[in-house]
Amino acid sequence: MTMIVNEIFESLQGESSFAGLPCFFVRLTGCNLRCTWCDTRYAYTEGTEYSVDVIADKINSSKAGIVEFTGGEPLLQKEELVRLIGLIDASKKILLETNGSISLQGIPERVAIIADVKLKGSGEGGSFLKDNFECVKKTDELKFVLSDKNDYCEMKDHLLRYSLEEKCSVLISRVKNAELTDSEIADMILRDGLKVRYQIQLHKLIWGEQRGK
Ligand code: SF4
Repeated sequence: MTMIVNEIFESLQGESSFAGLPCFFVRLTGCNLRCTWCDTRYAYTEGTEYSVDVIADKINSSKAGIVEFTGGEPLLQKEELVRLIGLIDASKKILLETNGSISLQGIPERVAIIADVKLKGSGEGGSFLKDNFECVKKTDELKFVLSDKNDYCEMKDHLLRYSLEEKCSVLISRVKNAELTDSEIADMILRDGLKVRYQIQLHKLIWGEQRGK
């Protein structure tokens, strides 16, 4: 069984509650969405075919204790991904970054899912599969990327409507050229008493927009 891989690299995890930890990244090719602010457009089509055994060997021989599958949208190759996960050493922590538009059912329990809930400012608002809110575990994370005040209000509406703060960790970040600044968002989070984690992409602070970092 083979998968189309855009790139494989080691870096520090830049986001989520695993930020700062060494991580082995497998970026899979293809995405079913086209977010206006996407910074990995090169992953839409560019890729190389590898067998799942070869990818598993690379992961298992890495010194990093964490592996993250990202994209693109990794769940476009769901069957192959589930097979690959079964080949990864039990000692590795596995993260799956997804845009949430494809069902999370069937993803092994050991995987920590980091699902991006797209808001209107992304141009892909409404793409998150609502059934997936029922699939998230306490150890999973839901991420909202804000472009403007409307996105902030839409995010708050989601938190309330689906009781997301009780379900799992909620991450908030902002688009690079967002209408809102970091401090404005931080002030709104404090004002509204949200139980969320605001995050700034660590890898971009360290390496800028450098690819493969
Ligand atoms: S889901 Fe991710 S990879 Fe796909 S277009 Fe949006 S930001 Fe880019």
